Formats: sequence, C-alpha cells, structure tokens
Amino acid sequence: MNNFQYKNPTKILFGKGQIENLATEIPENSKVLMLYGGGSIKTNGIYEQVSKALSNFEVIEFGGIPANPEYEVLLEALDIIKAENITFLLGVGGGSVIDGTKFLSAAALYEGEEPWDILAKNMRTLVGMPFGTVLTLPATGSEMNSGAVITRAETKEKFAMGGPGLFPVFSILDPEVVKSIPTRQIANGLADAFTHVLEQYMTYTVDAKLQDRFAESILQTLIEVAPAILKDPSDYKAASNFMWSCTMALNGLIQQGVPSDWAVHMMGHELTALFGIDHARTLAIIAESHYTFNLDSKKDKLAQYAERVWNVTEGTKDDKAKAGIKKTTEFFHSLGIKTKLSEYTEDYKGTAQIISKRFEERGWKGLGEHGKVTPKAVEKIVKMSY
Ligand code: NAP
Ligand code: FE
Repeated sequence: MNNFQYKNPTKILFGKGQIENLATEIPENSKVLMLYGGGSIKTNGIYEQVSKALSNFEVIEFGGIPANPEYEVLLEALDIIKAENITFLLGVGGGSVIDGTKFLSAAALYEGEEPWDILAKNMRTLVGMPFGTVLTLPATGSEMNSGAVITRAETKEKFAMGGPGLFPVFSILDPEVVKSIPTRQIANGLADAFTHVLEQYMTYTVDAKLQDRFAESILQTLIEVAPAILKDPSDYKAASNFMWSCTMALNGLIQQGVPSDWAVHMMGHELTALFGIDHARTLAIIAESHYTFNLDSKKDKLAQYAERVWNVTEGTKDDKAKAGIKKTTEFFHSLGIKTKLSEYTEDYKGTAQIISKRFEERGWKGLGEHGKVTPKAVEKIVKMSY
C-alpha cells in the first residue's frame, strides 16, 4: 500500500426528513446564496422544503445553472455574491449545481483578474467561501469531495478543478429525492458512480486489500440495486443504497494508498465538451476501448474484478480479464446506455485526432496510473470507441 494522508471534513446528514435540519448547519447571521439548476426542484417539492428550512436566514436565489455547469452562467452568480456580500453558498441539485457552487466558492475569494485561470491553470483552492449542499441526484460524489468540473461553452472546453478548500461543510442526502429523477438520469448516476470506482480500482495492484474490497463492494451494490431503482425510483431501500454507494464511490476513501487512472474521465470530458453527450454516457463510450487498449498493464486487476465482482470462474487470467471488460459493457447496456460514439452523433469522424491534438497542446503527455497513455494512445482509444 502507498503512503497517504486522508481528511474528509464534510458532514453528512443522511435519510428521510434531513432537509429540515438545514438551518442548524448554516452559521447564524449568514447571508445565503441558494443555487439551483433548470427548475426540477420547483416541481418535485425540494424547493419548498429548502425554502421552509431557510426561513430564518436572509436568502438570495440563483437558478438556471445548466447541466455541465457553464462558466459564463456562473459569472452572473459571482457578480451577485460580490454585490450582495454573500457569506454562505447552498447548492441544491446534482453534480452540475454542486460543481458550479464549488467554482463560485473558489472564485468568490480569488484575487486574480480572470477566474477562468482557476481552471485553465489548474490552481488548487486552499480556502473557499463556505458552502453546503442538498443533493438531488446521486451520481458524482461531488457532495463529499473537493473536485469540480466546469465547462466553457464559448470554447467547448471542460476542465477539472479542486483543492482542500472545496469540500462542502455539510451535505444533505435524503434518498426520497430520488423518486422524481427521470430514468435517463438514474442510469447516468449508476454508470458514473460505477466508473468512478473503476478509475480508482482498475490499475495495478499494490496489495491494498481493504481498498480493493471497498471498491468491489461498491460495484457489487450498484449492480445489485440497479434493476430495482430503474424499475421504481420511489423504492426507498434501493434509493438509499444507490445514494450512499454513489457518495462512497468518490469521497476519497477508496482512493487512499492506491494508484488511480482517471483517463476515462479525461477523454469523456472531451466528448461532453464537443458533442454535449451526458457525462456518464461518455464514460460508457470510452471504458471498453480504454481497458482493451491497456489490457496488459491492467490484466491482474481486470481478472480479479471479473472473479470477485462478476463471479467469472472459468478460463485463464487473460480470458477472465477480457470477460471483465465484456461484463462492464453489458452492465452499461443493461442500464439502457449505448457504448459507441457513433450511436450518439453522426459527426464522430475526426474526433480522435481532435482530442489527441488538444491533449498534446495542453501538455497532457501521459495519462493513467503509469502516466503512459500518450496523446497517440488517446487517439487510438477514442477511435476504438467509434
Ligand atoms: P446534473 O447535470 O446535475 O443533472 C442532470 C439533470 O437531472 C438536470 O436536468 C437536473 O435538473 C435533473 N435532476 C437532478 N435532480 C433531480 C431530481 N431529484 N428530480 C428530477 N430531475 C433532477 O447531473 P449529474 O450527473 O449529477 O452531474 C453531472 C456533472 O457532474 C457533469 O458536469 C460532470 O462532469 C460532473 N461530475 C463531477 C464530479 C465531481 O466529483 N465533482 C464527478 C463526476 C462528474 P435541474 O437542472 O433542474 O436540477
Ligand atoms: Fe464522473
């Protein structure tokens, strides 16, 4: 196992009715900016619950943060934060709203000229404006981690940011919010969380037995609850297991002491930036090609995954590793998610070269746990995903 330092300061309030406790988590006399997305919270009752819980605070609202939160929109919220002397941010939504809130947390205290530099120059945020979240869509784990991904519509760029100052102070996870989520987004949540685990697990072994088993247990739980939650999102038992699995998939715990990959996300982000494909679906497009291309360096883990997660017992290590890749693709299909780029856009030709060139220009010379996934390799992987 590798050395590590681990601190996750986010307080979790999990379960039915927890939104009522919102007021006790926000510092007294705060001036709150409540941030939300396209309006789903206005039709599913979450807006009323949050507004009621905040009745003793001075609150200003900012709605309209789009999926794949856009820098241009967030700058409007930044102006409000400054003009109104906001002291606390509250993101009510899925990964997009929460990531947007994180960007604002960083940008509100940023002293440079151009807040885009936080993303373009990958500046770590050590101290941000304090914020909490009310999660409405289990998927990203953003509610308990310190990362965010922001899109600049103008240039079709999507960049990650983060830093120890960007953990939410608290996050409210009420599985009852799941009942209003459309099937497409539930499938996305399952696929995104599943891939988060794979990115931190499907590398080379450092004999971190506990981290491996944590990862495998999250994968197994997602596989187990997927049919139930897709069939009936108001199934509270399935919803609570789904929700907590998504949070645990990316709150730092399973990443400690082990190598991690993240190349699937890096390539996937480009597909969202270029074509607007849902984040989770871009991961499903890239995963099979990435694991096939890197079969040799990931073989031991792929075979272990096939054995422990999918109960593949027959064949050589090579057979098992390949079976693990096939099972992963079949899992995405079972969620109703297509896994080839050409199934999402007719305009796919040339995408591999565009992405490879972007990585080259950004100096992203080697992705993955070995730092060996070069722009040339990226070109091949993306092409295999057509
Ligand atoms: P999302 O983009 O936040 O939301 C997708 C859609 O679901 C929106 O239309 C949203 O509507 C709707 N929705 C959310 N909750 C709902 C509910 N309870 N009932 C009905 N509809 C609901 O989806 P996401 O998958 O959570 O986030 C994706 C973003 O997170 C991407 O930009 C991705 O890159 C990023 N991401 C971040 C991390 C991280 O660690 N920070 C990790 C992975 C991915 P409204 O707009 O009305 O809310
Ligand atoms: Fe993700």
